[in-house]
Formats: sequence, structure tokens, C-alpha cells
Amino acid sequence: MARVTRIVAVANQKGGVGKTTSTVNIAAALALAGHSVLVIDLDPQGNASTALGLEHHEGVPGIYEVLTEGMPLAGIVGESPDIAGLWGAPATIDLAGAEIELVGVEGREYLLREALAAYLAENPVDFVLLDCPPALGLLTINGLVAATEVLLPIQCEYYALEGLSQLLRTIDMVTAHLNPSLGVSAILLTMYDGRTRLASQVADEVRRHFGARVLNTVIPRNVRVSEAPSFSQTVLTYDPSSAGSLAYTDRK
Ligand code: ADP
Ligand code: MG
Repeated sequence: MARVTRIVAVANQKGGVGKTTSTVNIAAALALAGHSVLVIDLDPQGNASTALGLEHHEGVPGIYEVLTEGMPLAGIVGESPDIAGLWGAPATIDLAGAEIELVGVEGREYLLREALAAYLAENPVDFVLLDCPPALGLLTINGLVAATEVLLPIQCEYYALEGLSQLLRTIDMVTAHLNPSLGVSAILLTMYDGRTRLASQVADEVRRHFGARVLNTVIPRNVRVSEAPSFSQTVLTYDPSSAGSLAYTDRK
């Protein structure tokens, strides 16, 4: 029987809410639990590529070449040096030009979906995680069109809900016109600081607003999580017993 791949777009047009951190650490947790996982870096900053130890300096072929030149995804995917079963497609700074270069290209919203379908036909995996950039432009749209579901990280800080209605409208638009099977499957509260009342107020507000779609697991603010990428690692390999690692593996 054909394998059903869950394709999860990790999206929120706000920057710094924990999209990349959640993408790479959830991917690592799934791979360490025995699943095969592909991470696709859709952000020109390439932070997910860094955390996964994937080369992404200028000149390295990445998701830019896939979207703008039709290079097969198989030509850019590399395996994580640290975790078996974890694969990644890197992004370089070139990707910053893609939004403009693709204006006017017919079917530009479907480029990633098509590239991914061709890849998965030859290289099936259990999960694909798409690390979207902090914008609602064509790259995020490509992520939403390629995905089967959306994971929405929300930072437990001031203004957490600001801009969310715009994001939800975009997701509704994609569902209505481009990808009818898409839905927001989960909301993840990130950078929760248990010492502050603000964090618990934000968490309560998000739960009131979104109910059961908010995951019970909350990611605490934890310095080991923010240190890990500078060692080209996820927190799961960098410090497996840290609070951040335990949260991303859902053990506490
Ligand atoms: P986004 O991809 O949404 O822009 P990031 O995942 O890059 O957000 O996170 C933004 C910053 O916050 C990064 O410097 C990251 O290391 C840090 N960070 C993310 N999650 C945590 C956490 N749980 N604890 C501490 N720092 C975190
Ligand atoms: Mg990011």
C-alpha cells in the first residue's frame, strides 16, 4: 500500500515565533523515534539548514534552484550528519530573489507541490516539514499548497495574536482556491516562561480562542534551545536532557 506522507507547513508570518526551531526539533524528535523525515527550508535566511548541519552557502544548489530552474528536489536533499532518517533540502540567500523572479510564471503556487510529489514517488518518507519564511508571500503560499496540514507556532509574548487573523485568512484562501485538503491541525505555544504572568495569560487567551487545536505540550523558553543551532545541531542531540529537548520529544 502506498505510504501516506504527512506534509506539515510550519507557518506564521511573524518572525521569531519559533517556526524554524520547532521545525528542526520536531523533525529530529520524529526521526529519533524511527520515522523518516524530510525538512524543506523555505526561508532565504537558511536557519533550518544551519540547525540541521546542511551546507547552504552561496553557490550550493538549494530550494531556489528547485523552484526557479526546475532542478529535482533529489538533487539538493542531504542527510543530517547527526540523525539517521532525517533529511533536509537547504535554502541559500538566493531564495530571496525567487518571489520576484516567479511573478508571472504560470502555476507558480504549485511549484513546490509538484517537485515534492516527484521526489516522494521515488523517496517516500513518513513526514515532510516545511519551514516557511516570516511573510505571506509566494514562498509561504508554495508551502501551504504543498502541505496537507499547518502547524502554527505562537510565541507566548505580547502581540501573540496580532496578525493571526491575516494568516488564517490566507490559509482559508489557499484552502478555498488552491489546496482544498489543507487545515490548521495544530497550534504550538512556544517560548513559554513559567515565571511570568504574561506567558500564562497569553497561553490562556490562545486556548480560549482556538480550543482543542492548541497542543497540550508547551515549549518552554530554554537557553539550550537557542544555543543548539550555533553548533549545527538540534537541541535533541545538543542537550537531550534539557527542558527544551524534553518538550520537543513530548516527555515533559
Ligand atoms: P522563526 O523561525 O519563527 O523566525 P526561530 O525559531 O528562529 O523563529 O526563533 C527565534 C529566536 O528565538 C531564535 O534565536 C531561537 O533560537 C530562539 N528560540 C526559539 N525557541 C526558543 C525556546 N524555546 N527557548 C529559547 N529560545 C528560543
Ligand atoms: Mg525561521
